[in-house]
Amino acid sequence: MIIVMSHQATSAQVQAVVDRVKEIGLRPEVSFGEDRAVIGVIGANAYAYREAFSHLPAIQEIVPITKPYKLASREFQPRDTVVDVGGVAVGGEEVVVMAGPCSVESREMLVETARHVAGQGARILRGGAFKPRTSPYSFQGLGKAGLEMLAQAREETGLRVVSEVLSASDVELVSAYVDMLQVGTRNMQNYTLLQEVGRCGKPVLLKRGMSATVEEWLLAAEYILSQGNRNVVLCERGIRTFETSTRFTLDLNSVPLVRELSHLPVIVDPSQGTGRWSLVRPMSLAAVAAGAHGLLIEVHPRPDEALSDGAQSLDFDGFDRLMHDLRRLVGATTAQPA
Ligand code: PEP
Ligand code: MN
Repeated sequence: MIIVMSHQATSAQVQAVVDRVKEIGLRPEVSFGEDRAVIGVIGANAYAYREAFSHLPAIQEIVPITKPYKLASREFQPRDTVVDVGGVAVGGEEVVVMAGPCSVESREMLVETARHVAGQGARILRGGAFKPRTSPYSFQGLGKAGLEMLAQAREETGLRVVSEVLSASDVELVSAYVDMLQVGTRNMQNYTLLQEVGRCGKPVLLKRGMSATVEEWLLAAEYILSQGNRNVVLCERGIRTFETSTRFTLDLNSVPLVRELSHLPVIVDPSQGTGRWSLVRPMSLAAVAAGAHGLLIEVHPRPDEALSDGAQSLDFDGFDRLMHDLRRLVGATTAQPA
């Protein structure tokens, strides 16, 4: 449930409610809105304890949260969350483009790509150093050396960096190099990993599991939020359906739906979502028209030579065309070319 304080409540009155929540063994999460404090009360059956607050002053109302996810719900926080990724705001007015290779392959190709996408207005560089490949015989990524290259590319271009973390034991290592941790589709229900990224406090890009419902996805976000990390950005990346002519089915329904259900920012990855470079530009535009706060785009200087996901990677010309069309669609709200 949430306890909405009156706009005249003093900090001592807010504290009295917080103390009472703790006394009954529940967990308080205080957030200060425009003109009043709201206290989220987290724990099983929290609403059953509402009478325990009836004698406390300055409470305006006590509202049950009807959804299974609490901290992620719009009921808990009506205003949009804006996540600060090393100074880049995700979830605000600007459509934030995150672009780069599927995998970091070498320093040269990474810097070449980073320079190019930065020049076109991308704000965040993507690139996997630890790759979750379907086959154990496929390229698995450069690991720590790849992270060092990402950090170097950030130095040289000013782009922020997002990269995937595959296991809880790597969270500390990866977060030493990146501005945002990516949790991939295959790990969306790895609850140990979710809790660890929740404890670490870095912004998290949480991909939707390829077989997850929207509710399961928001419950995965809840794992991170409930550890105290409020910096979660959701990423729709396509789901498995009976359709085999595209790699996944990019579920753009989820974008406006998640924006109704949750205050968290949501971006779209049309590269994984379609598996075909020729579909990336139209589906990027559709995603933004549907309300996405940003895009995650695979770009490679020579897609034919890519060590992973070349078929869905844009070359530089393709990326330029995408950015051109995106600027026409959203005008001044997208970053302009440098
Ligand atoms: C990726 O972004 O390259 C990736 C592996 O993503 P996903 O987890 O969505 O498949
Ligand atoms: Mn990929």
